[in-house]
Amino acid sequence: MHIWGGSTLVSTRLPVSLVSGEIENPQRPTEEEKKLFLAIAERLIRASEKEMLPHSIHDVVKSLSTEPFRKEINCTVFQESQVEKVRVRIRTLLISWDESQSGKLEEGSLGAYSWNDCEIGIKKGIKTLKFTNYLMLNPEELREKERDSFGKIENEGLLHHELLHGQLLIDAMRESLSWQEKVCRHDFDFTPVDLEHRVIYDLQ
Ligand SMILES: [Zn+2]
Repeated sequence: MHIWGGSTLVSTRLPVSLVSGEIENPQRPTEEEKKLFLAIAERLIRASEKEMLPHSIHDVVKSLSTEPFRKEINCTVFQESQVEKVRVRIRTLLISWDESQSGKLEEGSLGAYSWNDCEIGIKKGIKTLKFTNYLMLNPEELREKERDSFGKIENEGLLHHELLHGQLLIDAMRESLSWQEKVCRHDFDFTPVDLEHRVIYDLQ
């Protein structure tokens, strides 16, 4: 049985971090990394289906599947829009944990979610933004934690945390008119990613 407490998933603050810059040379995950990710993600998705998570990660989980997350924003409702529509497509790929990215990671990091490559195109008044984002998890640390039930919960908390760095920006795309207005004016606002953890800790 899992202890998914009311508004707190895991009370300990895990040493987690987000890479905001480009991850260079992303490598395919190892078999072990895939297995670890799938095991933890499966438990997290099960909790999500039962609406036991303090904040949904539905869309970012979808972006990890073969079907990317898509959102179309109608810009004609905003004054000073530069385009008629903005279309966003987001895929998230699990990549291999890479210590050499350590310059961008906090020490002792267990995972990272990176808004990485974005392909931008404008055609006939429609702006298209295609993101390929990366998720990576530290297999050595996670493997150890998977051995006992409290560690398993910590791993679920870690994955939930990393995925929130994706979901919160997707939430802004879906729900925030001011965010939508900005993107229609060619101003892509990354603030909701919450690099500085202003809101994430309250949502996990
Ligand atoms: Zn974080």
